[in-house]
Amino acid sequence: MTKTASYVRVAIPAPLYCVFDYSIPNELNKESMPPGIRLQVPFGKQWRVGILIEHIDKPNFEINKIKPVKQCLDSKPVFDPQMLKLLRWASQYYHHPLGEVTNAALPSQLRKGDAAQVKMETNWQLSPTGQNLNAKDLSRAPKQLALFLFLKENPEGVVKSQLFAFDEKWAASMRVLLKKSIVKETQILPAKKILTVDALSPALKLNKEQSDALKIILNHITSFKTFLLFGETGSGKTEVYMQTIDVLLKNMKQVLILVPEIGLTPQLISRFQKRFGDTLAVSHSGLNDSERLQAWLAAKENTAQVILGTRSAVFLPCPNLGAIIVDEEHDLSFKQQDSFRYSARDVAIRRAHFLNIPIILGSATPSLESMFNARNNKYQMLRLSQRAGGAEKPLIQLIDIRAQKLNEGLSDALVKNIELEVQNNKQVLLFLNRRGFTPTILCHDCGWTAQCTRCDARLTYHSRHNILRCHHCGSEQAMIHNCFECNSKELHHYGQGTEKLESVLKELFPNYNIARIDRDTTRRKGSLEKTLIEINSGKVQIMIGTQMLAKGHHFPNVTLVGIIESDQGLFGADFRTAERLSQLILQVSGRAGRAESRGKVLIQTHHPDNPIMQLIVKQDYQLISENLLSERQVTQFPPYSYLAILRAEATETNAAMDYLLDVAGKTTKTEGCSLLGPMPAPMEKRAGRYRAQLIINAMQREHLHFWITQNFSQITHSKLVRKVRWSIDIDPQEVL
Ligand code: ADP
Ligand code: ZN
Ligand code: ZN
Repeated sequence: MTKTASYVRVAIPAPLYCVFDYSIPNELNKESMPPGIRLQVPFGKQWRVGILIEHIDKPNFEINKIKPVKQCLDSKPVFDPQMLKLLRWASQYYHHPLGEVTNAALPSQLRKGDAAQVKMETNWQLSPTGQNLNAKDLSRAPKQLALFLFLKENPEGVVKSQLFAFDEKWAASMRVLLKKSIVKETQILPAKKILTVDALSPALKLNKEQSDALKIILNHITSFKTFLLFGETGSGKTEVYMQTIDVLLKNMKQVLILVPEIGLTPQLISRFQKRFGDTLAVSHSGLNDSERLQAWLAAKENTAQVILGTRSAVFLPCPNLGAIIVDEEHDLSFKQQDSFRYSARDVAIRRAHFLNIPIILGSATPSLESMFNARNNKYQMLRLSQRAGGAEKPLIQLIDIRAQKLNEGLSDALVKNIELEVQNNKQVLLFLNRRGFTPTILCHDCGWTAQCTRCDARLTYHSRHNILRCHHCGSEQAMIHNCFECNSKELHHYGQGTEKLESVLKELFPNYNIARIDRDTTRRKGSLEKTLIEINSGKVQIMIGTQMLAKGHHFPNVTLVGIIESDQGLFGADFRTAERLSQLILQVSGRAGRAESRGKVLIQTHHPDNPIMQLIVKQDYQLISENLLSERQVTQFPPYSYLAILRAEATETNAAMDYLLDVAGKTTKTEGCSLLGPMPAPMEKRAGRYRAQLIINAMQREHLHFWITQNFSQITHSKLVRKVRWSIDIDPQEVL
């Protein structure tokens, strides 16, 4: 032994709250192993891909039991020091194993150990023959000639995107030039895409509010600051983002834009593409593994400057990041609801803070947390109060349906309004947040209801496939015709879902086309896009949708939005129900009316006098949020306190409750912290597991983390822990 042994600490994806130590074997060179590279290491009887976190002198473990690293998978780190810092922070803040955090931040091909290899691009340039060719020789083939001259202007060669910009139908002439050996093809690394502004759609002239907002943002463009761009749908937030991006691009910076899963519509992508061309990279769950890796590499190699993505894009490596934008910041989809339960919005704010760059949160209906932070000057509020392009706000009215005769949930008033609009060649959007045909099937003779055997939930009838489906665990069974209890044939259907609404409307409006947009009708790839095209071409007059329709889409010809059911949103058990309802209604309302014609929103309700309903009619989200905030202050819920939930689930009936009772009973009291529960989850049984939860409520964030850290060994080592699956949810978004 001449060389002193050296060791590394490695984060490995495993549900274990520690990092693992390995030795560096002689054949590997410590100097070429910077933190942030991937290593292949032995783990139990398997091999795993882990991330080198740091070099250490002495392992935590008995030296003779330390195993050597098998191989380095990278020469350059997949995570730079800044990103490692962020991931370590996230692991601590969310109390989640670092190896699983780093894993979540990698595209799946890199998790598996594939090479972080940029896909080569074909480059076309004139061959020596081509360079010596006289243009006259091609005078009889004008298309080939044009292409030849284009290539002559670009001696370094051109790639596909440039050729498409030159002429959509370039490929045929290129084939001929190749055959004549005038052109040669090579494979190159994709070059940094420089924005060619003049070819793309220009910036709009901002209105006063927009330009004031932009000015304030640009005043803070080089340091950390959180902006809350609070402007209703259509007020021109996206235009403000884009002009901020313009400035950052001129400074050679990258910009990351996060949007909700269902907000990343083809319309939005094409709007960004038209504006930013090739500098745009898009990352979302619809991409295949290799496309995701390429988007990741484009960001990392700085070949893309504008990076648009959904939740997990918050972890895309951007070495030159100049700002982050989170659009629809209130949206639930930014919170991952299983395993690593992070909030992409909150991680984004932390990332901006670490990098000392600005972050813009935008929404028509900001979360109460953000409104609260703006009120306390932690965020800077930027207000856009008018619709850009001169469109008027829609008119919101309530339809009091108390004691009214309803036709399958539709009031006469709503039906009449629909009729008026479609007769005037306008479109109508009806919103019902429940899929399927009927949500309840009840035996008239004995009262039995069709329940899922794996969940505490009723089965929904889906008429198209004639099946019963559980919306919680996804299980399906053939439709039944006799009661399971008493065998009676008197099975009655109650309630209505989008499928039923569709069938009722087809009877009421046989001469109009109706489209339904929910998870059932959009499962096949491309089917949503197809329906959207039909809608915008005017082929469809009436649209029925779930919350999928609430965001992102622009329907310029929709003048009436009908909200079929609003009441359950007023009285839900979760403390955020009223916040969510008002956000949803105002978001849906944003679909109604554009520059040409004022829109109308009709809300059916049994509670027209409810104060929240009254404020929704006024469309004053500022006032709504102030009302809800004072309620939260009284009840001491977030943002006036900080929550974590310890959840447990088990196949045995009482195991989850017993485990949480054991944990709660043995934990030490922490100042400023109170425990709620343990209690069974609101839907105790789900997908065959019994679930329970313990809520930790603290007046200060530090106290919350202190409680968890203090009691962590109790949580992980309770003698009952083997029977359950448990998880910690920091800043939970769904509490009940
Ligand atoms: P938001 O993101 O707030 O929903 P958008 O930026 O999408 O709003 O703007 C809504 C519509 O108004 C778009 O069609 C956009 O092109 C247009 N628009 C935005 N700003 C302006 C402006 N300053 N002048 C004219 N039209 C504008
Ligand atoms: Zn019965
Ligand atoms: Zn179920």
